[in-house]
Amino acid sequence: MASKKKEASLQASVTNQEQWEEMLATKGLTVVDVYQQWCGPCRAVVSLLRKIKNELGDDLLHFATAEADSIDALERYRGKCEPTFLFYGGGELVAVLRGANAPLLQRMIVEELAKEKLVLEQGGERKAVKDDGLVDDDKAEEEETLPQSENKESIIVPASKSYTVAIIKPDAVAHGKANEIIMKIQDAGFEILAHEERTLTEVEARDFYQHKAAEVDFEDLVQFMSSGLSHILVLSQVEDSTNVVAAWREFIGPADIEEARREKPESLRAQYGTQALFNAVHGSEDIDQAGRELAFLFPNFRTASVTEQDGEEERVERTLALIRPNVARENREEILAKIHESGFTVALQREEMLTEKQVRQFYFQHVEEDFFPALLQNMTSGPVLAMTLARIEAVEHWNNILGPSDVNKAREESPESLRAQFAVENEPINPLHGSASHDEAEREINFFFPKQQTLAMIKPDAMMEHKEKIWEEIHANGFSVMQQKETVLSRETAEEFYKEHREKLFFSQLVEFMCSGPCVMLILKKENAVEDWRAMLGPTDPDQAKETSPDSLRARFGSDILHNSVHGSSTEKHAEEEIRFIFGDISSEAELAGDGETVTTVLAKDKDSSAYENSGMSKSPTGGMSDNKQHNGDP
Ligand code: GDP
Repeated sequence: MASKKKEASLQASVTNQEQWEEMLATKGLTVVDVYQQWCGPCRAVVSLLRKIKNELGDDLLHFATAEADSIDALERYRGKCEPTFLFYGGGELVAVLRGANAPLLQRMIVEELAKEKLVLEQGGERKAVKDDGLVDDDKAEEEETLPQSENKESIIVPASKSYTVAIIKPDAVAHGKANEIIMKIQDAGFEILAHEERTLTEVEARDFYQHKAAEVDFEDLVQFMSSGLSHILVLSQVEDSTNVVAAWREFIGPADIEEARREKPESLRAQYGTQALFNAVHGSEDIDQAGRELAFLFPNFRTASVTEQDGEEERVERTLALIRPNVARENREEILAKIHESGFTVALQREEMLTEKQVRQFYFQHVEEDFFPALLQNMTSGPVLAMTLARIEAVEHWNNILGPSDVNKAREESPESLRAQFAVENEPINPLHGSASHDEAEREINFFFPKQQTLAMIKPDAMMEHKEKIWEEIHANGFSVMQQKETVLSRETAEEFYKEHREKLFFSQLVEFMCSGPCVMLILKKENAVEDWRAMLGPTDPDQAKETSPDSLRARFGSDILHNSVHGSSTEKHAEEEIRFIFGDISSEAELAGDGETVTTVLAKDKDSSAYENSGMSKSPTGGMSDNKQHNGDP
């Protein structure tokens, strides 16, 4: 079945130790579905994985399935029936997810990919984890005696919200201050997503504070934390400013209560702390720690989006971000780092000098505004860096971290926002743009990154063995197949198609080969299609491809410089010419829902017709950046 094969290629199938090691050596993030032979890989997530791959279009994201029984490294996963996903970066385990929880899986993929990119691109530190869910039998017994959270209900944390873990410690509770503190928490705009009263056991307190185990007063801390009732809270913010972790830490003040009283007298610790260790409240240090603490203190927690509760899935969404021309180069780097840190993937990126006309088109809603002349001046003063950013709730999240569009307001009200931090001296226009809504995002992305079409061909040498695999790669890389046909080229067609090589020594050989059997012609469409498809092909000569792009189609399937399996137009102009030559009049824009097995011959009408010009190809509705080169990845 074709669909089965497609799934197999989306996820590399790892069935022995050697393949496992090969997988660990793969650059980027690999998400492995560990399965038992008797039940097979998790089918439920395949379409989700495909969607994520298409949305992110990222070469550093890989999926694999691995059978626990045949891989030594997975010995401890044998006989476990719950779906388990292991996330590997640079050969190290970086995250684990149990259960086929689609929204959570999606979020973790986006986040872990962003983290891995941070490691690869900016030399960040990779945080390896141990799979704590895997307890040895003797340890399991001990585990069972741990008092579990009394609240057996699942605690639902909206995946779109950031959260932090807060504890009102035994000293404040013993002094009867818990209710007062809780009221202050709510008054300050924090939302309590979960609330439990309980006494931590010594073991729990020790585990909870294990990162402080080396400190001199660690034992005292453990004793104190297990000495009486605490209130354990999961907090988010009513106005989700995305960084509730930092907001809460700000609200509680410095850990040292003397310092708190001096520097932040209005903070909770200044008001309720009694002495060094007894500082009344706790807050997670960062988002990662909040996640670990949440899982530790509320083992029944799960994240869910509001839409998921209504039975719908969450989507990875895209938004358009612009770094305006006058933002200094070094600030650009810093902004890009913040983008990655915030869980976004940069799917497309290009640097462009805009004309006045283009600025008017892009900002057509603003042309009548008082600030438009300043905006126009700013936007045409140098090259602007445009990016599509992908993550869950991208539009909202990007706007949240940007802060108010008025730079003065941003400086006064959200000094930590990107617009405040990167504001340019004496410049009324803010430094960064974000799409206002999902619809706007689509329009704006299309303006900077109009969809392109290219002509692809599966050459005769690849038709027998590799056709389906190539077809699958096309889909996995987010191309839409607009038209396709299987045909045997006539001598005249092959000669005309490769006419630029007429004078070359290999010309007759080439024509001979191209007519030697059936081939598949395809029109592929996506943003930056020409360049992206060429990148997937690799160099003309498969030997060279093996050296420089071992993952490319020619490296994998080509046998020599002539028999190199696949073709792709080399420029946008060539793409237009080749598509017109092969397909002639294209009257349908509809995407074909082919599956690679049922190759159909479609539309090859009158070649002389110029309907091609009317197909809307590469022309954005705004008349935007239709015929410029684009970059995917680094500019
Ligand atoms: P492409 O755009 O990467 O396909 O490369 P070209 O347009 O330069 O060449 C067209 C096709 O001609 C290639 O895909 C090869 O099949 C073939 N070809 C190119 N160079 C050579 C060569 O030096 N020797 C032979 N035998 N074939 C070649």
